[in-house]
Amino acid sequence: MSSDVPDASDVAETADEVDATDAVSDEPEANDSAVEEAAKHVPSGAPPLRVEGLVKHFGGVTAVDGASFEVERGSLTGLIGPNGAGKSTTFNCITGVHEPTAGSVYFKSEDVTGLEPYRMARKGLVRTFQIARELEEMTVLENLMLAPKGQIGESAIRAVTPGLRREVIEQEEAIRERAWETLDFFEIDHLANEHAGNLSGGQRKLLEMARALMTDPEVVLLDEPLAGVNPTLEEKILDRIHQLREDGYTFLLVEHDMDVIMNNCEHVIVMHQGSVLAEGTGDEIRDNERVIEAYLGEDI
Ligand code: ADP
Ligand code: MG
Repeated sequence: MSSDVPDASDVAETADEVDATDAVSDEPEANDSAVEEAAKHVPSGAPPLRVEGLVKHFGGVTAVDGASFEVERGSLTGLIGPNGAGKSTTFNCITGVHEPTAGSVYFKSEDVTGLEPYRMARKGLVRTFQIARELEEMTVLENLMLAPKGQIGESAIRAVTPGLRREVIEQEEAIRERAWETLDFFEIDHLANEHAGNLSGGQRKLLEMARALMTDPEVVLLDEPLAGVNPTLEEKILDRIHQLREDGYTFLLVEHDMDVIMNNCEHVIVMHQGSVLAEGTGDEIRDNERVIEAYLGEDI
């Protein structure tokens, strides 16, 4: 699987990203947000993410063919499979980029199948997106400040309503502060005023993760977050993922490098031809005959 060649679904995503960003700011829900935030990171019985019989057709192509799995709370779960297995399409169906042809997606116990990406993000389920062309022309700090959901300042009417102006200013300040904290966490604060388009491949990956984090997610889906990243930055990204996980975030990670999966994920799901072929620990997967066969010709 070549990591630096965008696949069809990656290209399709870029337009969605701008929509998602705009839409997030369109519909303020300031009153709900405190309750929503408080409800996050609180253990509950249902897994934070469950996929049941997911199917996605593109014309005559069956990209996902009845995939079912769940992701345990607080886990770093790996999703692997040969090129074309349906991993990216599964991600896109989970996060609302594509509407599934059939099947269901549950966030905790709630059926969220087919919700738009910004609604998913508001609930706490996000995936990283490539930085769209429009966002390349903005600074790194601006990229982060655009990401959060439920900003009251984005509503023109509220912004000019007397009495709400202070609230708008305070919220913008809070977002700015959060953006700086996030930049600091990913150690890209020195790039705050750089145009996103000028970042290196690895720095972009950090920015993509930082943007996702700004929406205060509960579950983060990462599609090849280490693609094209140098070993030093790779270590940094993995380190940040582990830190966030200790803070209660849940991760589902698609990664081509099997060593990364084996060394970092306690649970691994293997997809093949659109459905789940096997699940288990890294060691169980490595020894699984069906998995070895599916990867015929590729290294595990
Ligand atoms: P993976 O991420 O595991 O490599 P994908 O989900 O990208 O796999 O692709 C699964 C299959 O669906 C492939 O055969 C791919 O060509 C096809 N596919 C993915 N996206 C589209 C699309 N937007 N239109 C048509 N076919 C697609
Ligand atoms: Mg893919």
